Amino acid sequence: MRRPLIIANWKMNTTLAEAEILLSHYKNTLRKYQDLDIVICPPYIWLVPLAENLSRGKSHIKLGAQDVFYESFGSYTGEISPRMLKGIAKYVIVGHSERRKYFDETLVDMIKKVNAVLEANLKPIICLGEQSKMPLKQRVWGRPTAIDRRNNVFKELEYLLQNIKKKDYDDLIIAYEPVWAIGTGEAATGGYVAAVIYGIRERIAKLSSKAMAEKTRILYGGSVDSKNIKEFIYQPEIDGILVGTSALRVREFSKICEVVSERH
Ligand code: PEP
Repeated sequence: MRRPLIIANWKMNTTLAEAEILLSHYKNTLRKYQDLDIVICPPYIWLVPLAENLSRGKSHIKLGAQDVFYESFGSYTGEISPRMLKGIAKYVIVGHSERRKYFDETLVDMIKKVNAVLEANLKPIICLGEQSKMPLKQRVWGRPTAIDRRNNVFKELEYLLQNIKKKDYDDLIIAYEPVWAIGTGEAATGGYVAAVIYGIRERIAKLSSKAMAEKTRILYGGSVDSKNIKEFIYQPEIDGILVGTSALRVREFSKICEVVSERH
């Protein structure tokens, strides 16, 4: 069975004091969920102080970066390279839809970033998801039940995978995040997400092997909270959650972890 992975994306939230307090609460409340991999992605500037905090005392919580640049060193004002993250963060989110929307990141940028992250022996969390929902008239009921054919999640996935060395597939983590579900309070349905993730696994199997597809952890992200978590985590295809809004509220996040831990 794949080990569940829960990622907390704090985005551009928290002052240093708030980040330290939030981390202390995380450490206290999440200690009991040793069966889960828990990764916090705080704002870049708090990675070092939070890494120091985590190094004092025992915690199984790990850190991740919300983004990274693909070059190692040089005249790239404002950027951080994967090499610089070594020893501080273990994971890196790549291609989050907010990076693609507000900073015009492309699939080609994503490929360069994923390869740079792998080169530095870090683990990329590759975000993929369709922009729009299936039109209402094609849906069986309110929430979408299938990917709209106009969307190209699978095409993007295949293109990405074709540009990553097969030997590196072992370290990939995929987060399926329909853009319309992120931060909107309108999550996808569990069945729909499971069907898409099944499709993602099929593509990995096609380009690598069935064994690799079975090993790869594939998460869902998009308006998950303590009320709807069961819908996702009881789907065997879904190996964990990328949490945004609910990750800033300790009780919410802890409840999500509790449900995931009960399930596995
Ligand atoms: C995200 O930003 O990746 C995300 C899933 O956010 P939210 O949980 O707020 O939808």
